[in-house]
Amino acid sequence: MADIDALTSSAYAHALEVIASVEPRIADATRAELADQRSSLKLIASENYASPAVLLTMGTWFSDKYAEGTVGHRFYAGCQNVDTVEALAAEHARELFGAEYAYVQPHSGIDANLVAFWSILAHRVEGPWLEKAAAKNVNDLTEADWEALRKELGNQRLLGMSLDAGGHLTHGFRPNISGKMFHQQQYGTNPETGLLDYDALLAKAREFKPLVLVAGYSAYPRRVNFAKMREIADEVGATLMVDMAHFAGLVAGKVFTGEENPVPYADIVTSTTHKSLRGPRGGLVLATGELAPSVDRGCPMVLGGPMSHVMAAKAVAFAEARTEDFQAYAHRVAENAQTLAEGFLKRGAKLVTGGTDNHLVLLDVTSFGLTGRQAESALLDAGVVTNRNSVPADPNGAWYTSGIRLGTPALTTRGFGAEEFDRVAELMVEVLRNTTPGTTKAGTPSQASYVLADGVADRVRAASAEMLDKHPLYPGIDLS
Ligand SMILES: *Cc1c(COP(=O)(O)O)cnc(C)c1O
Repeated sequence: MADIDALTSSAYAHALEVIASVEPRIADATRAELADQRSSLKLIASENYASPAVLLTMGTWFSDKYAEGTVGHRFYAGCQNVDTVEALAAEHARELFGAEYAYVQPHSGIDANLVAFWSILAHRVEGPWLEKAAAKNVNDLTEADWEALRKELGNQRLLGMSLDAGGHLTHGFRPNISGKMFHQQQYGTNPETGLLDYDALLAKAREFKPLVLVAGYSAYPRRVNFAKMREIADEVGATLMVDMAHFAGLVAGKVFTGEENPVPYADIVTSTTHKSLRGPRGGLVLATGELAPSVDRGCPMVLGGPMSHVMAAKAVAFAEARTEDFQAYAHRVAENAQTLAEGFLKRGAKLVTGGTDNHLVLLDVTSFGLTGRQAESALLDAGVVTNRNSVPADPNGAWYTSGIRLGTPALTTRGFGAEEFDRVAELMVEVLRNTTPGTTKAGTPSQASYVLADGVADRVRAASAEMLDKHPLYPGIDLS
């Protein structure tokens, strides 16, 4: 077998030379990005490191092809190779997740959600309406039909998890398009425990009677019982949509099985492909056969032309995710999150919900006397890359926040295990204990400025470098 590391290294060395011949500053920035990613502790819960095979697949002439439509049914000629790519990516996705139908065109997670919303509305609102108007097609509806449709359309209600409880913007947050195209309400978590309260959710659903119940999260550090979500949806006649953007890798890797696997329970599942799933930047929709025809019209009804080069990379990533290696990886991601959480708890730090049982940890930094913004900045000074995040009922609001969201997918890809993640918690606590809030120019307490004690950043960077050097990122790539 060829030496994959050597091939990868020479592929990138040559590619950067070609890029530099046109715009050297882009080649430089690309090199600098690799150096930065190699030398920092990446704890951003939504990020990962895709394999060189996935990355290389994105850099080809598939980018040059238009292919609106679906496999075998394109609005452009000459799509036979794109058909091969899209059909294979969809087949891998169906097998990987045990789904009836997979749509691999969405360019991102938000696009996947827009496709899902659109297909639910087309199926559940427009479909019955067409029947009632005895019209074959929306084009057959008259102006008067539309007028009546708008008036009588009735239920276009969506119930999703609120942003500060860990939901995503697209789950009905008022300023987002999902909060404008739907009449929305949001559910939160129990104020004492920080956990989802299924009884309270059922009560809310009974009262609100949503057309769409959205489950899934970006910052909730716990597993969700999708059998219970299904019961609630059935009880009120809602379509159950699960957005597994964050935890798709744990589903593919069989960490979330049974009632924690959304696929058998949901009508429609959306995802990103670049977070815990470790593929290219993109989106994915899985659906039951009933919703499949409307999802299939996602492009060009909702999405621009498919990115065939990214669909090809999705096929490669799904092929990787089918392996035992990936399953072992996904289990380590969850174990490492436990270690990280315990590492904070035993050093006296406070965690939202008191721990984790997925891939992410939400650290409440108020006990260090800091805002999320101050903590995020001080940690970055020490080479620890995180993002600030609201905690439930956040006293500091959505901009400064009181939390730091952490995830284990990226560093687990680098090979970090229990020893390293405990050390990560130790180093982070050292930074936060040595950070104090700053003051504004007027001398009042600031929510943004901070003072990190001398020497701490250097000490933490040196300790991190030892671990990072032991677990090199893209060891096959040598650009020196
Ligand atoms: C990240 C995320 C998205 C958005 O994904 P993009 O690819 O950035 O559009 C959507 N939903 C959830 C739950 C997410 O965590």
